[in-house]
Amino acid sequence: MRDQVPVKRRVVVVGAGNAALCAALSAREGGAAVTVLERAPRSEHGGNSRFTMASMRFAYRNLDELQEVTGQLGADEIETSDYGSYPESRFVRDLERMSCGRADPGLVATLVARSRPTLCWMRGLGVEFVPLYAGQAFEIDGRRRFWGGLTLQARGGGPGLVASLRRAAVRAGIEVLHESRAVRLQVDEGAVRGVEVDGPSGLRLLAADAVVLASGGFEANREWRRRYLGEGWEAAKVRGSRYNTGDGIRMGLEAGAARAGQWTGCHAVAWDLNAPEVGNLEVRHRYQKHSYPLGIVVNARGERFLDEGADFRNYTYARYGRDVLEQPGRFAWQVFDARVADLLRDEYRQPHASRVTADSVEELAGRLEGVDEEGFLRTVRDFNAAVRRHVRFDPAARDGRSTHGLDPDKSNWANPLDRPPFEAFAVTCGITFTFGGLRIDRGARVLDESGRPVPDLFAAGELVGGLFHDNYPGGSGLTAGAVFGRIAGMRAAGHDA
Ligand SMILES: Cc1cc2nc3c(=O)[nH]c(=O)nc-3n(C[C@H](O)[C@H](O)[C@H](O)COP(=O)(O)OP(=O)(O)OC[C@H]3O[C@@H](n4cnc5c(N)ncnc54)[C@H](O)[C@@H]3O)c2cc1C
Repeated sequence: MRDQVPVKRRVVVVGAGNAALCAALSAREGGAAVTVLERAPRSEHGGNSRFTMASMRFAYRNLDELQEVTGQLGADEIETSDYGSYPESRFVRDLERMSCGRADPGLVATLVARSRPTLCWMRGLGVEFVPLYAGQAFEIDGRRRFWGGLTLQARGGGPGLVASLRRAAVRAGIEVLHESRAVRLQVDEGAVRGVEVDGPSGLRLLAADAVVLASGGFEANREWRRRYLGEGWEAAKVRGSRYNTGDGIRMGLEAGAARAGQWTGCHAVAWDLNAPEVGNLEVRHRYQKHSYPLGIVVNARGERFLDEGADFRNYTYARYGRDVLEQPGRFAWQVFDARVADLLRDEYRQPHASRVTADSVEELAGRLEGVDEEGFLRTVRDFNAAVRRHVRFDPAARDGRSTHGLDPDKSNWANPLDRPPFEAFAVTCGITFTFGGLRIDRGARVLDESGRPVPDLFAAGELVGGLFHDNYPGGSGLTAGAVFGRIAGMRAAGHDA
């Protein structure tokens, strides 16, 4: 008998963001022949992943485990920084508390346990990780202290992350097709056998032994936003890619997948009022305004409507976009005084920021477009009188320096607004990604309504439902995409993962 030559499995990956590229690289590592379908043209490739700071949350117990991901940090970096630790138990607790206990426990356990090994694997592929000093550490007594469980980013931010993964894909011989929109899964006797693609030369069928869906959520689909998130959401600005319109979710559902997660929920933040309708790859994440814990936020009536200091930015920012959307006119102003001016994040110092300044609160009141002046002055007076000034201000800890007797109170970092000059920034709601999506198991297999896997169909990234509800611990999205993308790719190549 002649020797049998093993036939390579053909894997098609839909999407070319972080989750998709991790899936493709893992499938290739598993021996498969891999084709990646990217709907966007070359100039806009990489999905939401490219718009990010590429901050990635992962569990580490100590500096040694951190350095497994970064490589050896310089002596100076170690001496002048306090990286703390972020044990698995805290990551699990953060995912559980952010979702009020509704996150899928199996997906949570896998995400957390695989987070550090997956970042190490990415490092092996050429992704470099560096400390995220800007935005995640404050200098206290001469040391940069990290405060929010989020310590590293990929070098070069989102563009750097995607470029590194793309280079690895090219080296591995993975084919990437641009302007190639997956429109339908071919299903034969219940198993997925290929993808119909609308590409530069028209419609064609790409045969596959397995397909990985990693084509993002439906945040860029106005009609779906209105249908699933509710009235008003059609007006939200899209922070990232214009191409994430829910295609992968629709194709999965048509092939028999079950829905999972919170279809009425999404990640949405305070975003510059004058930002464009969809993301801009030059400015990327810098339309965000995430230093609100250091000031106050007022609506058109001049009233505060949220607890700016409820928790660190990493644990509140993803739900405050919704609160802004619900205000009259769908806008708000974030207000700061000179006391915290040096602590504001880089995005506040961008030339495009919608900003006004004044030397007195009265003068500022007249400059906040669309805001009731009297209402604003009353709010500042009441706020200043309610600050518990005897408690020490510490931006790197939940300092308990709160207000007393307001509705809502500010729970931490409350400083009176009384030190000129004053500055204010106009924001609206920017949607990041949607929480509802396809149901998968811990092996990234897409499940049907009865909990059985749809044969040869896998999914990862934003289009997976079940991990996030109502809120989200910053930096979890890319890690989730990488963890489940890696598992999906290996499984699609025919191996256990
Ligand atoms: C401004 C901004 C900042 C962010 N910052 C961070 C951060 O620092 N850390 C973090 O963890 N998360 C961050 N996020 C969230 C993060 O971007 C997502 O969680 C993550 O990128 C999702 O990865 P993904 O691969 O699932 O989707 P994406 O990266 O969006 O990739 C989806 C891909 O699918 C393609 N596609 C869509 N439809 C089709 C189709 N029909 N056929 C073929 N291809 C298709 C798209 O073109 C794209 O290539 C941020 C998001 C934004 C918008």
